[in-house]
Parts: sequence; structure tokens; C-alpha cells
Amino acid sequence: MRRLLSTLVALVALAAPVGAQTAGLSALARLEPERSALSASDDATEITLGLSQPVPFRAFLLDDPPRLVVDFRELDFGPAKAEAFSHRGLFGEVRWGKFRPGWSRLVAELTGPARIVSAEERTAGAPALQLRLAPVAAEAFRAHDGAAQSALWDLPQPAPTGPPLARQDGTRPLRVMLDPGHGGIDPGAEADGYSEAVLVLSFARELKEVMTRAGIEVGMTRDEDEFVPLEERVTRAHAFRADLLLSLHADALPEGEAMGATLYRFDDKASDSASRKLAERHDRSDLLAGVDLEGHDDAVAGVLMDLARTETQPRVVRLGQVLAGAIKGAGIRMHRHPVQTANFAVLRSPDIPSALIELGFLSSQMDRARLLDAQWRAQMAAAVSEGVLRWAKADAAEARLLRQ
Ligand SMILES: [Zn+2]
Repeated sequence: MRRLLSTLVALVALAAPVGAQTAGLSALARLEPERSALSASDDATEITLGLSQPVPFRAFLLDDPPRLVVDFRELDFGPAKAEAFSHRGLFGEVRWGKFRPGWSRLVAELTGPARIVSAEERTAGAPALQLRLAPVAAEAFRAHDGAAQSALWDLPQPAPTGPPLARQDGTRPLRVMLDPGHGGIDPGAEADGYSEAVLVLSFARELKEVMTRAGIEVGMTRDEDEFVPLEERVTRAHAFRADLLLSLHADALPEGEAMGATLYRFDDKASDSASRKLAERHDRSDLLAGVDLEGHDDAVAGVLMDLARTETQPRVVRLGQVLAGAIKGAGIRMHRHPVQTANFAVLRSPDIPSALIELGFLSSQMDRARLLDAQWRAQMAAAVSEGVLRWAKADAAEARLLRQ
């Protein structure tokens, strides 16, 4: 039986040339666009990436949808645009950027099943990475072959979570995990030269300050321009032993559909078309960042999650109401349906009440102007902090009642 090798792991162990260990090699490798190219014919698609110096890399394929992932030691992509390599030959949309500290990633959606014919790095002369892909029949497509178990290379193990935190009852400081959406290889929505990832991170930092002053203990799922997979965000909230997870976004939706701050809480049957579009966008961000979404959600875990959710759900419903009340009370314009439901991965934590706040929509010019206005952001941060405190007070009173 012929076995097609569809994945190639190429960790290049680089012996530093004698005498060059210091300045030269410690600098970040750069992509050299003038020596980079994509060529496509009927039987192969070949991408060449010119590099200022050799970098360790590995390349592998993922399925659903089929895509090529190339991980590098951190690479400076400079002004080169991934779009220049998109939509030719076997390549659909191509993305690249920082993946996690010290690592960069390139992800190419494939237009059909393919195999990696070769993945070679020229380390002498003008360093370059050359990858050759050829189409194969659907049955011959092999994801993961030869790659590490997970698409996440050297992913740090989840931090030990310790004993579960008892439901907050007002006798200790409230712990809130802020989750600025997107980051790194995934910029989120982009409009007018602004990216969602950058805007929501600065808002999260401002909100953290306000909440900390109010006596809340605040953690962040990311505090730099780093890519964090959706599931990892929930893991980090658990590791922080959060009482509450607040995800912060400023997405784009087609003109006219979205304007004003909007709160989302979990519902796996959410059917509103705008929230479905947003859920697809968020899940697609992970796909396009090369995260392997296979093998999660087994049946037993599902039943346990449902049980925990039954207990959390009323707390989440109240969170939406109280937060929306506080934001409206501060005179901040909200969407005409201020609290909506959605099946966002980041809201799926069964035991931590979670909400996602669309601060506004980058696709709306009015919302964009508000997001860029420091005074508006300060009002919004104060309102969210106030709403969280109000919710926590009622939630703690209920916890004490239930205990009696
Ligand atoms: Zn977003």
C-alpha cells in the first residue's frame, strides 16, 4: 500500500557559525519580500520565502478546512503583505504574523486536498525557505502525519488550576478575567488603519486600572499583541480562578447591521443572523491562525458541562441585564437590542459566568470615533466596572441565601 507522506517536520538545528554567535544571529530574522515568490502550475504550488538569516521551522497540514501551517522562530514579516501570496494555485487566503512569544506562523487555506512534496531551507548564501505542495485525491489527504500531536508547537501546559474557587459571596475580593479579543496573527476586524486587536487591548488595560482601583482583582488573557486560541482563553480564566470572564471586542459587520455597544451571553441555540456571523468570524479566526479544533467536546464532558451551566445560566442572564443597565445609565449609546445571545467559544465555560462586550463596531464610523475617544472609553470603563460591582453584590446575596 502506498503511503503518502503529507506532513514534514523540519526542525532545523542550526549550529551558529564560529564567531557569529553574537550580534548577527541574535537579531530577529526578517522576511525579504524581493526574494520571496509564489509560483503555481496545474501540478504544484511552490512558495519561496527569502530570509535575512536561517530560522528553525516546521510545516504540516490540518484538515476541516484543509490548510498548510508553517511555524517559525519569530520572524519579522515587515511591510510584506500576505495577500500577495493569497488566492493562487493551491493557496486560498494566506495569513501570517506573531503566534505566541518567540514564534511566528504562516497559515494558507488550501483550495483542495494536497500534500507537502518538499520543505527545504537553504541556510548558506541567501537563506530561503522553499515549500512545494501538490494536489492529491481527497482519500490521500493526511493531516498531522509526522507532526507533533497538536498544532500548537511547544504550547506551554495549562497552569495548574488548584482547587475550584468557591462561588463569590462578598467575603473576598471579586476576581475578573478580562479577555481582549484577537491578537498576533489574528488582527480581528480592521477599518481605517485601526485593528480590533490593538483597540480592545488598550481598552482592556484602561478597564483593568479602573477595576483595580475599585478593589477588584483583575487578570488578562493577554497583555500584548499575542495570539491566544479561544479555548486557551477559557483555560487561562480557570487558571486565574476567575469569578467572571469578560471578553472585549469591536468587530465589523456589514454596514447598517450593527451600531452601538452590545452584550452577548451564551446560548447554543442562538439563531440571530448577526450573532451567527460573529460566531463564525471568531471561530474562523482560530482556523485561519492554524489552531487544530479537532477532538474536543466529548459526550461525557458535554453532560457535565450542561449540569454546571444550569447553575451558571441564571447568573449570566442577570449579568447581561445589570451590565446593560449600567452602560445605558451612564448615557452610553447601545445597540437597539442591547443584550443578545450567541454561541461564541469564549462564552462556553460552564462554571464561570461569562459575557462578551462588543464595545462598538469597527465597521460603523460613529462607533469607530467613540472607540478612539479617550473620554468615551473612560466613561465606558467606569460603567462596566460599576455594572460588574452591582452584579457581584446581588450575586453574593443570592449565594449566601442558597447556602442557608
Ligand atoms: Zn472580535
